[in-house]
Amino acid sequence: MKRALLPGLALLLSLATLAVHAQQQPAAAAKPAWSADLADIRRVATLIPGRKPLRINVLKFAESHRTKNFSVKGEPATPSVQARTVFQVVYADGYVMVDAGMDLPMHKQIGRGAEEPYFPEQAQQVDKALRGARAIIFTHEHGDHITGVIRTPYLAELAPKSILTRTQVHTLETTPQFPDLRITEEQAQRYHIIDYDQYMAFAPGWALIKAPGHTPGSQMMFITLDSGREYLLIGDAAWHMDSVRKVTGKDAPWIVEDTTAVNDQLKWLNGLYDREKNLVIIASHDDDEHKELVARKLLGGRLE
Ligand SMILES: [Zn+2]
Ligand SMILES: [Zn+2]
Repeated sequence: MKRALLPGLALLLSLATLAVHAQQQPAAAAKPAWSADLADIRRVATLIPGRKPLRINVLKFAESHRTKNFSVKGEPATPSVQARTVFQVVYADGYVMVDAGMDLPMHKQIGRGAEEPYFPEQAQQVDKALRGARAIIFTHEHGDHITGVIRTPYLAELAPKSILTRTQVHTLETTPQFPDLRITEEQAQRYHIIDYDQYMAFAPGWALIKAPGHTPGSQMMFITLDSGREYLLIGDAAWHMDSVRKVTGKDAPWIVEDTTAVNDQLKWLNGLYDREKNLVIIASHDDDEHKELVARKLLGGRLE
């Protein structure tokens, strides 16, 4: 027993020493604003036992028509559709919703005066799916992703299974994207609030990745299906996958981002895009990409 313990203790001690050294290092100039490691993320995604998800579905409930130059800086002002979407991660015994959509008033507010398509039937399907979900989790705290659990007739039903990060809650309490999204500390208590440092095992096959940048509470989601296919839901780190392919961020004056962190994320995603042929990287609003993935049966095109 003693013998088995000793090497472990030695390892702990050396780890502790390493930690002290790391703390004593002066803030190195080379340290990126944001970083992540796919090998670590893959390991975290295996921590929770159970059968992995079977498939992922996407549903578009509205569109914003914004020329490409807003999504990818330096692109020509060619027409481009931003899909307003939710995702559904289907397990054998239930499903989890990623993002909760928004009502028509928020769609109009986000459209800033433009008359843009909103699909009431699909929006109803989103509400139905939220009510049937085991849990709802959010890529970030912007109105088009979170209003569905903030301003909803089903608040009492949805809030306890809506899993918000501490940072997402903090933004909603202090600096929400729109005043309508503001919640008080008491209201925040109705939701299920989590906090983690870099990665968190969320469900079988599923790891959360902290990725502040687009908003303080942004996170990416790495999901391995039962089939072995891997997915990375990147939320709004890029509005269009061309941002990942060109490592070039947005040029949208109405969005205030930590551009250094977002650029680090785009660089990381670009590397994965080139190297990881089994990994499907999905941007929440890239209508071109969703259509292609649905056609290739890598995403389901309707909720179930
Ligand atoms: Zn956003
Ligand atoms: Zn968005």
